[in-house]
Amino acid sequence: AQTRNQALGLLYEFQHAAATPLHALRQIAEHMAIEMHAGLMTEGKSNLLMLPTFVENLPDGSEEGLFYALDLGGTNFRVLRCLLGGKEGRVLKQEYEEVPIPKSLMLGTSEELFDFIAKRLVDFVNREGEEYRIKNKRPQQVRELGLTFSFPVKQLSVKSGVLIQWTKGFKIADGVGADVVTLLQSAINRQHGPKIDVVVLVNDTVGTLAGGRYWNDDVMVGMILGTGTNACYVERDLPSHAPSKKGEMVINMEWGGFWSSHLPRTYADEQLDNESVNPGQAGYEKMIGGMYLGEIVRRVLLRMAREASLFGGPVPAKLREPFILITPEMSKMHADESGDLRVVAKILRDVFGVQKTELPARRIVHDVCDIVTMRSARLAAAGIVGILKKIMPDAFDSGTSGSLKTLHRNSMVAKRGDSGKIVLAMDGGLYEHYTQYRIYMQAAVNELLSEAQAKRLVIQLSKDGSGIGATILAACHSQYR
Ligand code: ADP
Ligand code: MG
Repeated sequence: AQTRNQALGLLYEFQHAAATPLHALRQIAEHMAIEMHAGLMTEGKSNLLMLPTFVENLPDGSEEGLFYALDLGGTNFRVLRCLLGGKEGRVLKQEYEEVPIPKSLMLGTSEELFDFIAKRLVDFVNREGEEYRIKNKRPQQVRELGLTFSFPVKQLSVKSGVLIQWTKGFKIADGVGADVVTLLQSAINRQHGPKIDVVVLVNDTVGTLAGGRYWNDDVMVGMILGTGTNACYVERDLPSHAPSKKGEMVINMEWGGFWSSHLPRTYADEQLDNESVNPGQAGYEKMIGGMYLGEIVRRVLLRMAREASLFGGPVPAKLREPFILITPEMSKMHADESGDLRVVAKILRDVFGVQKTELPARRIVHDVCDIVTMRSARLAAAGIVGILKKIMPDAFDSGTSGSLKTLHRNSMVAKRGDSGKIVLAMDGGLYEHYTQYRIYMQAAVNELLSEAQAKRLVIQLSKDGSGIGATILAACHSQYR
């Protein structure tokens, strides 16, 4: 009972440190909106990079032909082909293949990484069926591809951009400062296979936004909750370094790098950050992204095992191993509704080698999962509301502080179609597969918004949108259009 009380004490301490009360979320949303403005208007004066993407042409459904995409995320990469049939036919046919990225390639050279990817791409293209060869305006032997590359890139045009830094556990010595399209195009050419032209470079958020817009005119925001997290949106109040003929451009926020003193940082976050490949960076992402949630839980359990013998006896050796608890396993424990928490028991056994656990200890583990997930989901919700404040300040007039109102005095109000709706297209495994996550996030959005505001926001799962969107954007930017 003594040690159980100690473990409960540690649980309450963590719960308190990780709490996300409504007033803190409001501050975070407000701070996000202010940093968005600062990041747009200045270079390097905000923790939000707010990168111009040079994507002005978003799809409207009329796109036609066969296009490819390569989606390099953080955990997997996907190759896709998509046959587009215009307004009537839409997506006539699509196929994709998903390949896990070998850990060794995340720590090697960029040439090794891109050669591996190019080889899988060429294999996939070589298996293209006859049924894809109709309806093409381009010469039969040229294939056009959109590259979805989900790391921060400073775009120079819609089809070129240099890598700013690796994130999400990638540590590749070279690559930073190189043009990502050139890296891929050279690797493709080294394969001496079919002719494949990279015609557009986007990140996953932009692909997701485009994939959503293809179906729905009201899509204004693209967001990812997967290995990492990020968002982009259609901006009309553009700075001079993002010139646009159309008067609007998609801005990639790189919001993983957001930081605010209102973010509830715990000892587990500090340790995780110190031992990461990019300490001091991507602070918001490290509290939200699927790559990190299981690891935060592990660190809390490790402390409980050390200081309060959570699992009885000595600390299980595997509990000391970084990243051994992945978020899909954590979400299974969280979803365990059995009275004796037998899924929790099984996963503790399988992952950490803890053979026998008492029910009270399992309850504590379950609570830790709940706290970490709830925090992530609520922080993501605050970020969404920050974007809304920036793009529809009219809807927030009464609730917005004076400073932000001044910032918006000259900005145009985002209005599209007649619906008055703002649709957010969402992609990523964390959102897609983690039911309780979605519930917590929507609940926090509803807490933060008035009823009228909440009615205007639609969050829509756009499964594999980041990849399909890139094939559609390749169509929008085809040389044979
Ligand atoms: P990426 O972000 O690398 O493009 P995905 O969008 O497929 O990849 O997201 C993969 C991430 O989603 C995993 O790293 C994991 O954190 C999270 N994830 C996948 N399945 C689940 C699950 N069942 N429950 C919770 N999180 C999951
Ligand atoms: Mg992805």
